[in-house]
Amino acid sequence: GDWRFIYASPAVTHLLGYSVEEIVGLSAHDLYHPDDVEDFAHRADSVSYARGLYTHTYRFRCKDGHYTWLESTSRSIRDPVSGELCETLVVSRDASRRIEAEQANRRLARVLESSSDLVVFVAPDLRITQLNESARKALCLTPGVIGSLVLADLLPKSSYSQLIEDGFSSANATGSWTGELDLNVVRSGALVGDAQPLIPVALELLAHRPLQGQVEYYSIVARDLRDARATEAKLKQYQADIDHAARLITMGELASSLAHELNQPLTAIVNYVRGIQRRFKHSSSVRWDELQLPLDKTAATALRAGEIIHRMMDFTRKREPSMEALALAEVIPDLIQLSRPNAERQHVLLLDRADRSLPKVLADRIQLEQILLNLLVNAIEASGQASESMPLQVCIEARLVTEAVAPGMLWIRVKDQGQGLPAGPPQQVFERFFTTKSKGLGMGLAISRSLVETLGGQLWAENNPEGGACFSFSLPLAEEIG
Ligand code: ADP
Repeated sequence: GDWRFIYASPAVTHLLGYSVEEIVGLSAHDLYHPDDVEDFAHRADSVSYARGLYTHTYRFRCKDGHYTWLESTSRSIRDPVSGELCETLVVSRDASRRIEAEQANRRLARVLESSSDLVVFVAPDLRITQLNESARKALCLTPGVIGSLVLADLLPKSSYSQLIEDGFSSANATGSWTGELDLNVVRSGALVGDAQPLIPVALELLAHRPLQGQVEYYSIVARDLRDARATEAKLKQYQADIDHAARLITMGELASSLAHELNQPLTAIVNYVRGIQRRFKHSSSVRWDELQLPLDKTAATALRAGEIIHRMMDFTRKREPSMEALALAEVIPDLIQLSRPNAERQHVLLLDRADRSLPKVLADRIQLEQILLNLLVNAIEASGQASESMPLQVCIEARLVTEAVAPGMLWIRVKDQGQGLPAGPPQQVFERFFTTKSKGLGMGLAISRSLVETLGGQLWAENNPEGGACFSFSLPLAEEIG
């Protein structure tokens, strides 16, 4: 009646820390965890002692004061005549491990359920057995449909075949597979043939099997990439806008010399046309062969002017970058031509020392031109001390890198004989808004560096031992060379 121990087996010491003598006489009631006492008292009468056999799990205080989980089976022993309860035989075992494992499982299940990733469990016959809340929400699943879903309902055809062909075969062989796919929003009530919205996801498929057994189930954890893709697109747009603005600035820096360059052919055209006018004025009959040369020259000169304008427009046009295999030998002469008027005005000689036989690089043409043009404009500006009697050189070199640092890349350098890099660490010139020029913006090199990096290379600056600065960048080749 008072739940006192009248006997305990010696195992009690191992389980709870008390010796047999210590525990006999104590009341079990005092050793229950306070949170379990009420529950126990509540059920004890009706369940255990009335029916005679009862198993339950509860916390019990050990000798050192900490509580351990016990699983006990109790048997009530009654007076056969009066039916009165004489004593209770309790067999207990340590249940802490099981309870801890259960608690850990519950915690894991809660984390899975509230994870922002989409979690889906799939049976070996590809039925969907369970989805967490994020998956139910993202796929717009109502409780009614969930029970009858199969994997094919969750993915559009192409993603489904990729998951089956690549994903499941690899998960069956190695245990897991990761890839990027689309998921279907499974709108209930959608008409067959309705275009369903898609969710791009980064997906991990795991095959779960007991040791060496058949696959018991598969799990799919999918991360929704919609926000990341939108941010990526925004960033790309932002970068493209900056690049475009930078090209306009570079072109602005070249504009006055290009205007000068355009003036020449225009003046020549006017002169040819005036010559033709004069001929008609002074003679009533002009022969074709007298006109042919000035007309040919007029056309050729107009075409040359057109080319300059065309190149400027090409360079400043707003456009999506597109990667292609480019031969430097074709790109550099165009840029030299574009920068020549500017260089000549400042008594700078532009030299193309790039090896003609170099393999092609993989780059976007306009981005590559933008990088090179920027370095050329800077190099020409840095050669301020050049004069007619003492012209300075700006030289473009390119070679294949054979060093271990960056094998299989092209190395392009723009070397000048100017005043050299400003005092301080060389990398400061790549910081945004760093400029030593009164009208400088300090954006050119920062943008060039980020362009080089998007193309997969690196850009760095140093001083030449013989004076002047040298800007070098590496670019990946269009094709690996054996
Ligand atoms: P900006 O030309 O508007 O100043 P940049 O980013 O192109 O912007 O260049 C930043 C700074 O790097 C320049 O102001 C200059 O101090 C330095 N710099 C760039 N190119 C050279 C060069 N070839 N020689 C010496 N200094 C250079």
